Amino acid sequence: MLHRRDFLRTAARATAGVAVSDSWFANNLQARQAIPAKHREVFVGDKRVRVVDVHAHCIVPEVSSVVEGTTFASIVGTLPRGPNIMGPDRLRSLDEQGIDVQVLSINVFWWYAAEDRELARQIVKVQNEKLAEWCAAHSDRYVALASVTLQYPELAAEQLEQAVKQLNMRGAAIGGHVRGEELTSRRFDPFWAKAEQLGVLIFMHPQSAENVIRTDSLKGKGDLGNVIGNPLETTVFLSHMIFEGTLDRFPGLKICAPHAGGYLASYLGRSDATCQRRTSAGCANKKPPSEYFKKEIIVDSIVFSEEGLRHLVAEVGANQIVFGTDEPFNWPTNVDLILSASFLSNAEKEAILGGNLVQLLRL
Ligand SMILES: [Zn+2]
Repeated sequence: MLHRRDFLRTAARATAGVAVSDSWFANNLQARQAIPAKHREVFVGDKRVRVVDVHAHCIVPEVSSVVEGTTFASIVGTLPRGPNIMGPDRLRSLDEQGIDVQVLSINVFWWYAAEDRELARQIVKVQNEKLAEWCAAHSDRYVALASVTLQYPELAAEQLEQAVKQLNMRGAAIGGHVRGEELTSRRFDPFWAKAEQLGVLIFMHPQSAENVIRTDSLKGKGDLGNVIGNPLETTVFLSHMIFEGTLDRFPGLKICAPHAGGYLASYLGRSDATCQRRTSAGCANKKPPSEYFKKEIIVDSIVFSEEGLRHLVAEVGANQIVFGTDEPFNWPTNVDLILSASFLSNAEKEAILGGNLVQLLRL
């Protein structure tokens, strides 16, 4: 789960890769408290700048008693604890990282499944009040985003208003959907209207794309099956080929991926980091994922913008890019994007326009 990975990242910083448990946290807390961290000060040039982190998670353990005896007790029981519960360790981590203010939010959004409106209200009430309590006690370092019962949009609007006006919260954290239901459905308008009226930040946090991995999720306006679905399928295909070790078992393969390799080539850092930091990923690949874009994986040039092409070249190199048009479909592809690219040498232009394919296809 994404939430757990995020938690492990924080934990990994503190422990240099040692698996973290509640007992680890308890045993080490005292020792760590004894040595206060130096607050790293961040400068841009000679100007001290304020660093604010919008994306940080925690849980409120008090929610356990609210859900006791309900179907949610087991879910709450599996949520990562340790540094996921606010305490001195988290403050120390802020200091070490040079973060002045951190914005806290509770994700996973498991309470969206609560069909008992009163139970849903109680869960959110406890989460918001406890989080607000922590922030009030450390008001120079933390602010928080509210939880809301998005499955009940009118109630969610009320909770948002109350959180902002009475609990000093700065907005809300929401999932990308409510149990598969898109948040563009008109029934969510009361929540959107309240957020707009209050002028507060709404931080959306995904949760393993559960809503995307289902029939019809790419229906609707925007030709999403093509626009998002095609690069998404390519991204998933290439990721499996890498992470499952298939490209290592067949090192002579030359895989050519269309649409510039889908989304993968634009966001390779996340794929590399998962193998470096997260044992839970179980990476079977022998090289960092980005390395496969230096040899086994070739991508076409269909990115439409000079900046897109510049980034693609920076990530994979001109030798791994081949020219493509998607003809006869109506995309603005032509040789001019390559010819006019100021960041490409003439040799690189020639390679992308045809030289690479001459070799690959033995023309
Ligand atoms: Zn996150």
